Amino acid sequence: MTVEFTLAGYRELIAAILARGYEITDFSQTRAARRHLILRHDIDQCLASAARLAAVEAEQGWRASYFVLMRSEMYNPFSPAGLGALREIAGAGHEIGLHLDASIYGADAAALEAAVERECAMLESITGQRVSMISFHRPSPNLRPYDRILAGRGNTYESRFFDEIGYCSDSRGAWRHGRPRDHAAIAEGRALQLLTHAIWWVGEGDRPEDRLSAFLDRRFSLLETELAAHCAVHTPRKLKERI
Ligand SMILES: [Zn+2]
Repeated sequence: MTVEFTLAGYRELIAAILARGYEITDFSQTRAARRHLILRHDIDQCLASAARLAAVEAEQGWRASYFVLMRSEMYNPFSPAGLGALREIAGAGHEIGLHLDASIYGADAAALEAAVERECAMLESITGQRVSMISFHRPSPNLRPYDRILAGRGNTYESRFFDEIGYCSDSRGAWRHGRPRDHAAIAEGRALQLLTHAIWWVGEGDRPEDRLSAFLDRRFSLLETELAAHCAVHTPRKLKERI
């Protein structure tokens, strides 16, 4: 990770692509042969970080697509803070999609279909927006690409968004397959799907592992505060170390 992975760095990166004649589009509007840029964010760890990035984009008039996990141990979209962050993202004008951990449901296609319908309905109940796109969390190779419609929704790994246009991701906090500005699709003036994860762009620390440690510290403090508020027998760990 370099200093480019900051909110200012993100703004600079997107502005540089737009300066090459690109316009931001969502999945439904993107055409492969056009200078179209899709801003996709999969929320893997932290809704609050995503809300901060969403606010920065909204200030610039950029509309992105945020994909939310409904069954993760990392965050809870229905907790007061989670729900607030999610409504902030939606309220800033961004698209909210479902980030689906298909591995929970195994190989049964009917079970997966029912699960997608259920998870989308839960997400829609929070935002009041219809969910029209799904992105798979850590997709297995048989889901990349994936051209079936699931519960009436498209997905970000359809060939038309994955193979037929440029695709670039900040996996594990680095540009492991080249920087977006150097991507062949940009050089050729074709559409690009840019996947980023807010955790790498927001917060303290210079390295990906520092960002994750800071995230863990924040989560721990929150759990500690909640335990103290809801459970009288809990002794805060930091206090215990001193006793
Ligand atoms: Zn993910």
